[in-house]
Amino acid sequence: MPRSIIRLIIVGCVASLGACSTLRAPAVKNTSKTFTTVVVDAGHGGKDTGAYRRYGPPEKIVALDVAQRLDRKLRESQLKTVMTRSSDVFIPLNDRVAIENAQKKAIFVSIHFNDSRRRGIRGFETYYHSGPSADLANRIQEKLMTIPHSANRGVHTANFRVLRLATCPAVLVECGFLSNRAEGGQARDWEYRELLADRIAEAVVEQRYGPGVYRASSQVAAQSQPQAESPSGGTGIAPGTPHR
Ligand SMILES: [Zn+2]
Repeated sequence: MPRSIIRLIIVGCVASLGACSTLRAPAVKNTSKTFTTVVVDAGHGGKDTGAYRRYGPPEKIVALDVAQRLDRKLRESQLKTVMTRSSDVFIPLNDRVAIENAQKKAIFVSIHFNDSRRRGIRGFETYYHSGPSADLANRIQEKLMTIPHSANRGVHTANFRVLRLATCPAVLVECGFLSNRAEGGQARDWEYRELLADRIAEAVVEQRYGPGVYRASSQVAAQSQPQAESPSGGTGIAPGTPHR
């Protein structure tokens, strides 16, 4: 093979490697203290049920409910919000990333519930990928830990696509294990989901404006009919795609 062709091939390989690494690690704007918009992401949806429990609503339903409550609380705190989904629809991860990265001066908060074959496992986990996201992740975990009887499974880094490809500070919150009897039971309770949303909202507002600014809404007791209650146990939704 002529040397010039070999050189072309090498140049091509190096160029494509470069493109790959750009995809892997986009530049993250540190808007963790200046953001005006919060992208609220309810995990899963539609054909993707997320963590599935036979006798309760699947993750996609409870995650959407917490996300909607969080969305409302943030708007009440004068922040702009964008939801990646506001109904039970399937949104591909790349579309979520596109919504996330289309916002200026934003942060991204993804809401999930967890699952384990070991039913004894319980607790909150918060994940992030980029350095500018760490503060927000720690603050959310800290606020969740003020919920009575909560278990702390820590703040961790992870390569989830919605975190890895984010150009803004981005976190993913695991609001407890649906596979655990106690936490799965709590997740079915709308007042508990309201409490989860409240603590996450408090962390976000504190991250932006400092401590003492957040005011919990007084509508907790006057909430409309919760959306995630399942009338007779089973939801009739088939077990879905793997978690996340
Ligand atoms: Zn999930």
